Amino acid sequence: MNPKYLLDAYEIAPKKSLGQNFLQDAHILGKIVAAAELKPGDTVLEIGAGTGALTVALAQTHAQVVALEIDDRLLPILQRQLGDFPNVEIVQGDIEEVDPVALVGGGEYTVVANLPYYITSKIIRLLLESVSRKPRRLVLTIQQEVAERIVAKPGDMSLLAVSVQFYGKAEIVTKINPGAFFPRPEVASAVIRIDPHIHPLMSINEEVFFEVVRAGFSQKRKQLKNSLGFGLGISHLEAAQILLSVEVDPSRRAETLNIEEWGALAHAVARTLPRSESGRFRASAQAETA
Ligand code: SAM
Repeated sequence: MNPKYLLDAYEIAPKKSLGQNFLQDAHILGKIVAAAELKPGDTVLEIGAGTGALTVALAQTHAQVVALEIDDRLLPILQRQLGDFPNVEIVQGDIEEVDPVALVGGGEYTVVANLPYYITSKIIRLLLESVSRKPRRLVLTIQQEVAERIVAKPGDMSLLAVSVQFYGKAEIVTKINPGAFFPRPEVASAVIRIDPHIHPLMSINEEVFFEVVRAGFSQKRKQLKNSLGFGLGISHLEAAQILLSVEVDPSRRAETLNIEEWGALAHAVARTLPRSESGRFRASAQAETA
């Protein structure tokens, strides 16, 4: 049912602070559900169920739906919209405080969410990096600009792109105009699908990998020998040597490297630099005297 109609009927004003822009376009709802590729009996966690438009579409696939919503004002609407679906469980809570794995129980699960923009990156990190059991798939409606940054290719890579692509295959399913939401958001959105890798892309310690990637992106638009050197606290000469050892031109910029090149670089850094007691890399004696 149309979100504006429901909100008016329950005399609820959408809260900007909770990112409440509700989807009202059936065509887009269909695309989101299709991207999730749910089969009857699959488990899906919807984060931020809102007025339930997407929840109903998910429930119609006969998947088991756990619908999480932080705003208790919306619960009567969700109960009205979803009360007839035995395969839907409505849970009031904050995704930043609940454990998604505990919500979905055992077995595989998919996450579908039309996320408030301010928690997008945090939730993606939570689901790809920290949960005890990663989702099989994530279908997320997010700001278009962020979606484009996530699926970027070498040449336009960023710390965000490397972080997501290290864990999974990301693609844009569709772009969405502001008119598909009530109320209209100020920016365009996109639906993104992320399929986490079943086996890690490379055998590398994640902490090491990201320490090196963060170092590489530590200085915008600088050549890698400089940004990597600065980020790792070593001279640009030593950084250049490490880069050459894995056949990466030291004058390239961080945004041009692909994931495999970051992996090779991280291995080379780990081989070359000693680690301090705190576990961080530190400049080798050679570099300090160079
Ligand atoms: N899924 C609905 C739709 O597509 O129409 C609503 C999407 S709306 C952009 C985001 C929803 O997430 C809102 O209903 C909001 O109250 C809810 N929300 C915001 N922060 C949340 C949080 N931390 N945990 C759970 N839900 C949250």
